Amino acid sequence: MSFETFNLHPALLRAVAEAGYTVPTPIQARAIPLALAGHDLQAAAQTGTGKTAAFALPILQRLDAAVSEPRGPRAPRALVLVPTRELAAQVAESFQDLGRHLKQRGVLIFGGVGPKPQVKALAEGVDIIVATPGRLLDHLQLRLVDLSRIEMLVLDEADRMLDMGFIRPIRKLIAALPKQRQNLLFSATFSNEIRELARGILRDPQSIDIAPRNTPVELIDHRVYHVDTAQKHPLLTRILNDGGNRQSLVFTRTKHGANRLAERLARDGLSCAAIHGNKSQGARTRALEEFKQGKIQVLVATDIAARGLDIEELPHVVNFELPHVPEDYVHRIGRTGRAGRSGEAVSLVSRDERDRLRAIEKMLGRTIPVAA
Ligand code: AMP
Repeated sequence: MSFETFNLHPALLRAVAEAGYTVPTPIQARAIPLALAGHDLQAAAQTGTGKTAAFALPILQRLDAAVSEPRGPRAPRALVLVPTRELAAQVAESFQDLGRHLKQRGVLIFGGVGPKPQVKALAEGVDIIVATPGRLLDHLQLRLVDLSRIEMLVLDEADRMLDMGFIRPIRKLIAALPKQRQNLLFSATFSNEIRELARGILRDPQSIDIAPRNTPVELIDHRVYHVDTAQKHPLLTRILNDGGNRQSLVFTRTKHGANRLAERLARDGLSCAAIHGNKSQGARTRALEEFKQGKIQVLVATDIAARGLDIEELPHVVNFELPHVPEDYVHRIGRTGRAGRSGEAVSLVSRDERDRLRAIEKMLGRTIPVAA
């Protein structure tokens, strides 16, 4: 199957080819024709499956039906809500890449930065908004954005948005949208809460369930170290040093833990940075860029900050602490071994985390070997 079969605008096909996509991923193959046909969608798909293009291409195709002028006041027609600033930036970048030969204008809206450039962009007129719910609601309440002409709504990583307590802003934003619209909901997991949200928003949706592109069980080498909490830090330093210059993404459960660990690793002589929700947007973007450019060897992250990070060629993830929710184990290592590359996931497990390990093994359907 190729992208040509979707009957996309030639300008989109050109951008797809330039992005290096030759074959649609499973979620794209399923979602794009349904979305183009105007259906609402409820899709179970994780980061790394190509889900962004699965909604960005149909949106760009639909908006192009009425090519917009480069400037001039107009109301936005597509709204994408995402949980984190990082994901917002990545989704906006995908729209920019895929829409590069079209005339649509987009705006990126999130908190933690000054509102002025966003307000100016909104006033100049945009077609697509990619936003985190809180800041967009601020703009709405100040009447700085008009959502009355939205034709397409995407809720991306809906489960994470609920985890982060965005349900109220989401409901308020949706109340400002026209009733007649297309809704696409993407979520890695489908809890009862998500199903309820979906029921309230989607109209006669088509359901799509896509396994992660790289099933971690198959492509990634998992290992567990059983270790006392006090010994985790020295063991981690040894593992990182033994890896030579290999880059690692290290997960902690809390922001405080991420900071403290990054400081300790820095004292051990490792180049590292922490990335979590309490850091300013500038600091987070800088740390991520430096990590991507290879200037930083170790990035210490919390689950929420790392959600949606698009890091290519990352061979090594370390769980300094196991996540509370077993699915987060898959999200964490979901960013290793992308596009068929194999990766390695190492977990440091203390006695009080054994139950969590068992829950993860149950979810994976196999036991994780203990490192020698
Ligand atoms: P996503 O799940 O949307 O975060 O996408 C994960 C990664 O896959 C991104 O780096 C995309 O650029 C890439 N990608 C998306 N679609 C394709 C495709 N059809 N072929 C190759 N790579 C893709």
